[in-house]
Amino acid sequence: MASSVAAIVVAAGRGVRVGGEFPKQYKEVAGEPAIRHSLRLFALHPSVGVVQPVIHPDDRALFAQAAQGLELLGPVHGGATRQASVRAGLEALAPNPPEIVLVHDAARPFASAALVSRAIAAVAGGPAAVPGVPVSDTVKAVDASGQVTETLDRMRLRIIQTPQAFAFPTLLDAHRRAASEGLAGFTDDAALAEWAGVKVAVFEGERGNVKLTTPEDFARAESTMTGADLRTGTGFDVHAFGAGDHVMLGGVRIAHARGLVGHSDADVALHALTDAILGALADDDIGVHFPPSDPTWRNAPSDRFLAFAAERVRRRGGRINHLDLTIVCEEPRIGPHREAMRARIAEIAGLPVDRVGLKATTSEKLGFTGRGEGIAALATATVRLPWPSA
Ligand code: MG
Repeated sequence: MASSVAAIVVAAGRGVRVGGEFPKQYKEVAGEPAIRHSLRLFALHPSVGVVQPVIHPDDRALFAQAAQGLELLGPVHGGATRQASVRAGLEALAPNPPEIVLVHDAARPFASAALVSRAIAAVAGGPAAVPGVPVSDTVKAVDASGQVTETLDRMRLRIIQTPQAFAFPTLLDAHRRAASEGLAGFTDDAALAEWAGVKVAVFEGERGNVKLTTPEDFARAESTMTGADLRTGTGFDVHAFGAGDHVMLGGVRIAHARGLVGHSDADVALHALTDAILGALADDDIGVHFPPSDPTWRNAPSDRFLAFAAERVRRRGGRINHLDLTIVCEEPRIGPHREAMRARIAEIAGLPVDRVGLKATTSEKLGFTGRGEGIAALATATVRLPWPSA
């Protein structure tokens, strides 16, 4: 990495417009607090070294919960205005100054990793770069009585978003000067930089990078997500019977006159489910992530494979909508274990039980399953990802 990059995620606002029990940045969208999407974007970005959250002192517990498991600097407390909060983040970074700082609003949870990369690339050529999108509506200026005073040339207008990118010393200096002059009204860092005489370039933003402000914004975001990137994956697996006194099926130990042969615990059901989820993500398969040649996975319990695939979904900000499994064998009888297996699969994948389907069938004594030589499993996973990944 040529330059060191830090990201400040600003989340100190009270978000009174959304209402509800807590500030908007902690409200859930697509299954997680909005702020978690924003924090994860930077925490997982390969070009971002450190992430500095700025929070309201009242939100410490909410933040701790929302940030669980993410690699971040300890949060600092913001001030009365957004400007003061950004400054608090900058001052916290100042002892170990990065070369570049990105400033992002926690309430913009849908920014993509590609946008972060563009921000870093754009600021390499100058002191400041901000994402902007063209204006497609006609924009008019009005006076206090609502009379139009001017129709603006929309070709010259851009709607400005975050993350905004700056040379760190430039932004720190501009903030310190504004504070020492008692200026507090800047609504974004670009406006403050412009005041300080810094040249600000605009790079291509993203239409989907909306700022969640009103309850309607949340409702619209949620409904957009529902259809945004719905994916289906399938998985298939077979294991042969061999010596033993039990089989592992769907994470449940079932006493049986024979065992299943395999490198891991040979849980054919969990293997098919794992591949179905990986298939929905177009993310290789179980054999690539857990090579049979690697002794680590000898006799490994297969719940870790399924948990791994489910975590891959979560790391992309998505969720598993549904898992469906069909087990094909003459024996053991699956019916008596069906509910235990559903419950265990739901637990491993982090789903409610009513989102796990499980059926069993024989193959009418035909083929290898019919001859009792092994067990086959077929699985389907329906996965929802938060945004078409750029
Ligand atoms: Mg297998």
